Amino acid sequence: MAIRVLEPQVVSRIAAGEVVERPASVVKELVENSLDAGASQISVEVRGGGVSLIRVMDNGSGIPAADVELAFDRYATSKIGSLDDLESISSLGFRGEALPSIAAVAQVDIVTRAAGEPAGTYLSLQDGEVVNRESQGRSQGTTVTVKNLFRKVPARLKFLKSPVTENSHIANVVSRYALAFPGVKFTLFIDGRASLRTPGSGRLIDSIIEVYGLEVARNMLEIEDRGWEGGAASSVLVTGMVGSPAISRSNRDYLSLFVNRRWTNSRLLAWAVAEAYHGLLMPGKHPVAVINISLSPKEVDINIHPTKSEVKFQNEHAVFSAVQKAVRQTLIRLMPVPKIEEVATAYGAPSVPRQGLVSAQAERILTPSLPLAPQTPAVTLPALRILGQLSSSYIIAEGPDGLYLIDQHAAHERILFERLQDQRSRQEIEVQGLLQPVTFEVSPKQEEVLKSRCQDLAEFGFSIEPFGERTFLVRAVPALLANKDWAEMVRELLDSLGGKGDWGERIAISMACHGAVKAGQVLTDDEMRQLVRQLEQIATPHTCPHGRPTMVRLSLGQLGSEFGRR
Ligand code: ADP
Ligand code: MG
Repeated sequence: MAIRVLEPQVVSRIAAGEVVERPASVVKELVENSLDAGASQISVEVRGGGVSLIRVMDNGSGIPAADVELAFDRYATSKIGSLDDLESISSLGFRGEALPSIAAVAQVDIVTRAAGEPAGTYLSLQDGEVVNRESQGRSQGTTVTVKNLFRKVPARLKFLKSPVTENSHIANVVSRYALAFPGVKFTLFIDGRASLRTPGSGRLIDSIIEVYGLEVARNMLEIEDRGWEGGAASSVLVTGMVGSPAISRSNRDYLSLFVNRRWTNSRLLAWAVAEAYHGLLMPGKHPVAVINISLSPKEVDINIHPTKSEVKFQNEHAVFSAVQKAVRQTLIRLMPVPKIEEVATAYGAPSVPRQGLVSAQAERILTPSLPLAPQTPAVTLPALRILGQLSSSYIIAEGPDGLYLIDQHAAHERILFERLQDQRSRQEIEVQGLLQPVTFEVSPKQEEVLKSRCQDLAEFGFSIEPFGERTFLVRAVPALLANKDWAEMVRELLDSLGGKGDWGERIAISMACHGAVKAGQVLTDDEMRQLVRQLEQIATPHTCPHGRPTMVRLSLGQLGSEFGRR
């Protein structure tokens, strides 16, 4: 084919792919425009996972009637004018790409009225072309309505996840901006239901209460608002709130980092925060934190990617050290110094209960309530003789072919997992009713997932029902978890939304993990024997449900050569 310049429509569609990846990207771009317009109230409404409808309404500056069409031209922006401006961007947008990109892949209506104009302007676009324009009444501000997103881009449409997933991405975007701009009143309606509402009081803690709930908010510490000198040349101001290690989470979603109030997924900053929490969190745990870094726009480049979520700092070292110091000092200064016993429980570190106590408890946990299916072959693991326990975490056993070191937690996880799957298929999961129903608060993102998963959870013994805005009522939990932190388990599960696999399996994995004996727990000979006997009966005893090995074997041959070499 001969070389030729592409038609503008084709160019738009190609470029739109970079800016508009999914419905949440549209929400992000529109909300950024509202914020750039100085709005103090922003209302977001979505339907059908954002594919049927996205509407963002603000009370910002509005667009002058004469400029409305221009706003939909590629590279048309009111935010920068020259190369110099590009060096010091203080607005969220500047590339002039969002509106034309959205219009290239959806049907867009806009109603906008700028200050001093007699009426608003209504504009309707199809395939990026204006099809209707008239004047229409509205107060100052802008409403953009996006319908039938990706209807003409089947490849993109196919790639989208379920409405629940897309809604949760949308809730995430709005939540992040609500945290970055506590002075702005945000509302988010998902399929007609209010999912988030912030007061716009200007106080970060108020936004945190709305986004993460009271429980998290109570455990947040304010970063001292003083210039954390990052180095000779740059002055970096670090503000926000960091969560006490007691409310750590099992994924990174609760870490919100902003540079001049622009959300960023900078790895450098995340690393600086992780460094600040060093030694305070259990491995695999991540902090809850909302941190804004203010510095001169000249010292940061945001023009790296069309979505503008990556940033480059002129002086990376200064920024890293400012963030690390600010967070670390806050944690150290404001955190009550815990006593040793408290550390053990609060951080989930191994506590070593008295021998007698453990046996009774572990007995209950380890004894299967059902005989294992008789057809399960008992040939996969030879009979083992227990020799003892190592480091309160591993069972040492002897088999006909050598020495076995069994990870007690991983092994018990596998046993429970198999049992749960089996009990669930027979609908025989043991349930523990709660004396009093317990309320359970979730984030907007978690709410979306939980609402659609109550039934799956019910199959495993959780009786959970909606109870007002972002609150659920828990009436019963699986007996296996009655004395465990089941709330933490459910939260982790809801956060693992992106994970693969079917839900039933994921719930079983999670329950097995939380129900299993922990590393660091002393086991009696009897308990170890029971655990190993149960492991011997299982078809797949060698890995835990996460796929990690439950045991290592040292063959007699290996042992011989080890000693022979010396
Ligand atoms: P950018 O934000 O990069 O300038 P956009 O395509 O997102 O590019 O928007 C183009 C222009 O339209 C903006 O520069 C701004 O002047 C105007 N605009 C868009 N949305 C709004 C809004 N909600 N309120 C006021 N002006 C807006
Ligand atoms: Mg924009």
